[in-house]
Amino acid sequence: MQNLWDNTLAASINAPLALRAYTSRLIGGNKDMVLYGGGNTSLKAADTLYVKGTGADLGAVSEEHFTALDLLRLRALLKDEQISDVELMRRVDDCKHSPKAAKPSIETLLHAALPYAYVEHAHADAVLAVANVTNCEERCAEVFGDLAPVVPYRHSGAALARACKAVFESCATDRAIGLILAFHGVVAFGNTARESYENLLRLVNRAEDWLQSRGAWVLPETDAIASGEDRAESLRQAASAVAGFPLSLCRVSTAQTLAYARRIDLADISRQGPPTPQHAIFTKRLPLIDGDIAVYARSYRDYLQQTLGEAPHTIDAAPRIALDPSFGLCAFGVNAHYAAVAAEIYLHDIAIISRATAHGRYCAAPAEDIARAELEYGGFEQRVRAQSND
Ligand SMILES: [Zn+2]
Repeated sequence: MQNLWDNTLAASINAPLALRAYTSRLIGGNKDMVLYGGGNTSLKAADTLYVKGTGADLGAVSEEHFTALDLLRLRALLKDEQISDVELMRRVDDCKHSPKAAKPSIETLLHAALPYAYVEHAHADAVLAVANVTNCEERCAEVFGDLAPVVPYRHSGAALARACKAVFESCATDRAIGLILAFHGVVAFGNTARESYENLLRLVNRAEDWLQSRGAWVLPETDAIASGEDRAESLRQAASAVAGFPLSLCRVSTAQTLAYARRIDLADISRQGPPTPQHAIFTKRLPLIDGDIAVYARSYRDYLQQTLGEAPHTIDAAPRIALDPSFGLCAFGVNAHYAAVAAEIYLHDIAIISRATAHGRYCAAPAEDIARAELEYGGFEQRVRAQSND
């Protein structure tokens, strides 16, 4: 991954928060780092934590997208082990300098916990391709060593922040430049904007080099010819009927998607879940792989019921991704834009899952946590539909 730091440009930026925004854009502009709203960054200056607001696109942030919070109060909250995770998250908002400021990132406490001026959090494809295997800890120790200790999977927010703090305090040596978040992503840190950004690149490039050295980097391709245009359209119609509104279609029939949809282990590897929970907002937890929309919808409702206790009205049971040997990959979305977004995200998932499978047994975060991510961040489709009906 290329280092995009520009010395001349950086020298023209004086304010630390502006420099923070600059390297955030370098990270956010690279889709192999984060996709559509994923990732967050922060800066500590004296007793203030500036953290990216939720919803802001990391690739386009500027100073005003960072929310200022009282760092000492955040750290005091984290020290109190009696506070429940729910209460902890509620109290984060009270630490904002201005009540009108944007809701700070869900990972605000994680940023507060680490004793560095700059902290970066991304869902880098290469890191996920190394770490998302059943022997995650062992694999990460081999690839990242003491540069980045592994934090076991925890749900975003209070639980993840507490786990990061515990691992950092017990395992990080002077050589540590970040943390690997199992089945979620990566954190890097540093005392300057440049150091922190370059530490993130160092971890990502280390992952990429290791995958290359294991022959796990190049994605399988086939020279089979795509067909199945009619099949894709009939799946779109069936999915729309389940969703209760018309879904748009985005078909990606390439040598790689066709090869992936024809893998003999597809039923196993495609049914473990997305490489990071955030992707499920656009792709749902699982793709449709056998063309049976009715069965998919039933098992999707069961999954929501079992994980969340009830099927929320904000989540319909239609698939957003379909894989088929005839057309490769198809994505469905509330409009053409979101169908293309889902397709693009799933192309990253195909790359990550294929590479992980080339060196281990791919696995993902627990189904309960994926469902919570779908619930907590979902709902955008309803907003889009409401706006288009205005
Ligand atoms: Zn994340």
